[in-house]
Amino acid sequence: MDFELTPDQEQFRSSLRNFVDKEIMPVAREWERDGRYPTEIVEQMKRLGLFGLMIPEEYGGADADFVSFTLMFEELSRGWMGIAGILGSHSLSCWMLARHGTEDQKKRYLPELATGQRRTGIALTEPEAGTDLQGIRTTAVRDGDQYVVNGSKMWITNARFADPLPVLVKTDTTTTPAHKGMSVLLVEAGTPGFEVTKDIPKLGYKGTESCEVVFDNVRVPAANLLGGAEGRGMQQVLSALEVGRLNIAGRSLGIAQRAYDEGLDYARERHAFGKPIADFQAIQIKIADMATQLQAARLLTYWSASKLDRGDRADLQTGMAKLFASEVALQAAQDSMRIHGGYGYSAEFEIERLYRDSALMVIGEGTSDIMRTVIAKALVAGKGRLGW
Ligand SMILES: Cc1cc2nc3c(=O)[nH]c(=O)nc-3n(C[C@H](O)[C@H](O)[C@H](O)COP(=O)(O)OP(=O)(O)OC[C@H]3O[C@@H](n4cnc5c(N)ncnc54)[C@H](O)[C@@H]3O)c2cc1C
Repeated sequence: MDFELTPDQEQFRSSLRNFVDKEIMPVAREWERDGRYPTEIVEQMKRLGLFGLMIPEEYGGADADFVSFTLMFEELSRGWMGIAGILGSHSLSCWMLARHGTEDQKKRYLPELATGQRRTGIALTEPEAGTDLQGIRTTAVRDGDQYVVNGSKMWITNARFADPLPVLVKTDTTTTPAHKGMSVLLVEAGTPGFEVTKDIPKLGYKGTESCEVVFDNVRVPAANLLGGAEGRGMQQVLSALEVGRLNIAGRSLGIAQRAYDEGLDYARERHAFGKPIADFQAIQIKIADMATQLQAARLLTYWSASKLDRGDRADLQTGMAKLFASEVALQAAQDSMRIHGGYGYSAEFEIERLYRDSALMVIGEGTSDIMRTVIAKALVAGKGRLGW
């Protein structure tokens, strides 16, 4: 049994770590406070090839393994989770397009998505439906060689830069179960009637926008129906969300690592009653628990990534990794904040941002309770085997 990263993965992590230390850490607090879009960092991520990580080489991507994919989100989120958001839905939609798109769709979009010249996101959630995706109301009615799309979406990250934006729609509202009438359409930016109407104000996860978008009689060519056949949208999206869960688990590791680092440093430096607070057993217990939980989350996450690398379905494993790592991030941010005492509540310390950002980890790409239902369903159906 080998728990080491391969030399390529080590090298990838090390170059990302340098990049995060030099380019992201020094500006994160100020840029996030000012609500500044991190354009310069995006340009550097393009140069590093990060937008093409999940795209096959024949379309100009790196065709990376899922462990490297996880490392990317972990390292970026150690610096600033909002930056990881720019690559999150982009990467999962690129993967979905590479896996389910027609050859024409792949040739049209993937090469530019790989360089970051084009970027993307994913539009699933609606004002009245998030977890219950079969309850969406956005419709696409066929009219000759086009679809006419009407409806709205909520919380769409990267909406202002996505081109094309994959949108989950109902192409048939009469089917039972509803998912048999659902499809994904690739909607290009600037198509008349497609409008990003609002940036939703958020607790954290700044640096990247999350928006409300509206479709008012938007005409989308039938050639932009993902995979070329109606009724496959839910299946396409669910397979992408498996990859998405791994991205959130990776981000959670980055947040938890930084919260731990900040807590440990602070505990060594801060003195009370004539000694460093790190000498108090109550603080040591927090440090020990944070480190142990973090390492357990990391092993679970890399293990679930390696399952995907073997080509297996991994709902159970990625569900476990997302559930556990996100709860560890939330707890680590809170424990580190307690170690910081009153300063943890100050916007001048990193832990304040980590605390706000950690809350999203237990919501995005399926809440913790939904992860529990995903895990339980797989176990009850006999699809998942525990152990190695
Ligand atoms: C900052 C941010 C960025 C986001 N980015 C995107 C994006 O880019 N694209 C996108 O499509 N979406 C995005 N989302 C939406 C996100 O995926 C949803 O918010 C999430 O899936 C939950 O859906 P909901 O908010 O509608 O909650 P609901 O589905 O209304 O859930 C509310 C509560 O009910 C519980 N619940 C619901 N159903 C069940 C059930 N069957 N069993 C037990 N409990 C249940 C949930 O666990 C939760 O506690 C984003 C959200 C945020 C906050």
